[in-house]
Amino acid sequence: MLALVASVMLAGSASAYEYLSCHWGTTSPTYRIVLNNSPTTDIVAAAGRWNEPQNDVTLVKTTSSTHDISVYDTQMVNYGWTGIVSARGDVTYIPSNCSGGHWARGALQLVVNTKYSSTSSSRRAGTATHEFGHALGLDHNSTVSVCPGGGTDYLSIMYPSTAKYSGNCARFHPSGIDINAIKARY
Ligand SMILES: [Zn+2]
Repeated sequence: MLALVASVMLAGSASAYEYLSCHWGTTSPTYRIVLNNSPTTDIVAAAGRWNEPQNDVTLVKTTSSTHDISVYDTQMVNYGWTGIVSARGDVTYIPSNCSGGHWARGALQLVVNTKYSSTSSSRRAGTATHEFGHALGLDHNSTVSVCPGGGTDYLSIMYPSTAKYSGNCARFHPSGIDINAIKARY
């Protein structure tokens, strides 16, 4: 989940990456864009931001009814998040009870909430990138530093608020820290 409200930022020491309880047993998990209120460009770009810097795992776009991640780009007026990864058909939790540490095929859905992101392509793509990070098994990472141009340098796309989209060191792409975490996981 990507909360809209900025949380208190702590410039803590570097620590091991936090993972979700589950990830994919396959190195080519598939996603299907089931519903899109906006052009699919930003969703596809977001998946590519994880695929291009590494070869250990690849998010594969499909139109098949058999897929791992169902993607929705839609307006969720009753929810205060910009995006979420959750169990398929239920936006309240992410499956953490999985066999052998691996999600079953079709276990996840990814929602980008156009209520917040429809006016900005860069934010929509940034949110989709953050959520694909969850969908690959990454938990939040609040590691920050001081931005050379002033303000906060967000060192992970998994930073849990939209604050990372603002300032001199705004972040919309995975960092080296994020990519290394993916490589370590797959
Ligand atoms: Zn999140």
